[in-house]
Amino acid sequence: MYKVVLLPGDGIGPEIIAETVKILKAVEKQFDLEFCFEEGLAGGASIDIYGAPLTQETLTLCRNSDAILFGAVGGPKWDGLSKELRPEQAILGLRRSLGLYANLRPMYLFNALIDASPLKKEIIGDNLDFLIIRELTGGLYFGQPKGIEKTQNKIRAFDTMEYTYEEIERVTRLAFETARRRKGCLTSVDKANVLETSRLWRSVVCDIAADYPNVKLNHMYVDNCSMQLILNPGQFDVILTENTFGDILSDEASVLTGSIGMLPSASLGGSKPYLYEPIHGSAPDIAGKGKANPIACILSAAMMLKYSFGVKEAAAVITNAVQKALYNGFRTADIAIGAKEVVTTSQMGDIIEKYI
Ligand code: NAD
Repeated sequence: MYKVVLLPGDGIGPEIIAETVKILKAVEKQFDLEFCFEEGLAGGASIDIYGAPLTQETLTLCRNSDAILFGAVGGPKWDGLSKELRPEQAILGLRRSLGLYANLRPMYLFNALIDASPLKKEIIGDNLDFLIIRELTGGLYFGQPKGIEKTQNKIRAFDTMEYTYEEIERVTRLAFETARRRKGCLTSVDKANVLETSRLWRSVVCDIAADYPNVKLNHMYVDNCSMQLILNPGQFDVILTENTFGDILSDEASVLTGSIGMLPSASLGGSKPYLYEPIHGSAPDIAGKGKANPIACILSAAMMLKYSFGVKEAAAVITNAVQKALYNGFRTADIAIGAKEVVTTSQMGDIIEKYI
């Protein structure tokens, strides 16, 4: 039996998590698995009750689980709160507390959605399929000191970008291992022409490369990479990059696959539990309207089956069911181009469940 903690969060989070549980229950029956779901509060939902985005209780629940399925947090209701109290601190706190240092974001374009991609067909090519591995617990988002200083006639804001050799090494090893099991190509993205952290990044990646002679490594500056993602996305197999660059590049890459509502992610660390979540936010503009695409969250659950529980066949069954739903023309509003029928969040969940 696997203990799965559900943290639906805010906005569309509860809607997409509900559909994902539906899918996991369908898979459970077919593969003789058993999931024990436990629900916790995170983000705005936790602030409303406990006054904090992530409580010790939720953290303990997560620590005692086999895997965490996270919806999304945030929304205008909590935008006025101070930085430490904002809903987004829940996900940053979980990553930090659980040591989840690597975020895997597969960029996979289902053939049925080729018209939903903003790029021309001849640029997007056939079978767009690459993976972004983003370092998740270092760099600008966590570096100290950070703050805003006000003196008599000056206001100064500052963040610190820092990386240790060890922080770079562990995510780099994971990237080489992953590339070895894929097409064997790794692109390390940095800004080594300007940043000291990037210079260290590049030298660590070169050190580790010596252990993986069968992986073809190349280095690319982040500004060029943002351009190459649009010019020739098919050139990539695995992209490895630091926290801030990865955050931005993966949102850019996400739209190549039709919609941000299609993209799952896995956050892995040195030991379990790992955390799985769609890459999008809480989408307050469509919350409660039945318009959210649940596929990113459902595919995140498929990643959980693969990376946390080792049941690759069950993960493949979910991916195939999603493929079939799209191929047969069922689409949520965000990917409506080419739809036979535009469906709601829960209808999409029902259709995928049926194909499972
Ligand atoms: P967002 O990802 O929530 O939404 C961006 C756009 O994409 C919106 O138009 C939205 O309707 C659409 N969209 C997102 N997910 C969708 C889905 N599944 N189906 C259909 N359309 C979808 O980003 P935002 O608007 O910048 O942020 C909204 C809130 O979410 C903010 O409070 C932000 O801080 C938070 N946020 C949370 C996370 C997280 O929980 N991991 C990540 C990013 C943003």
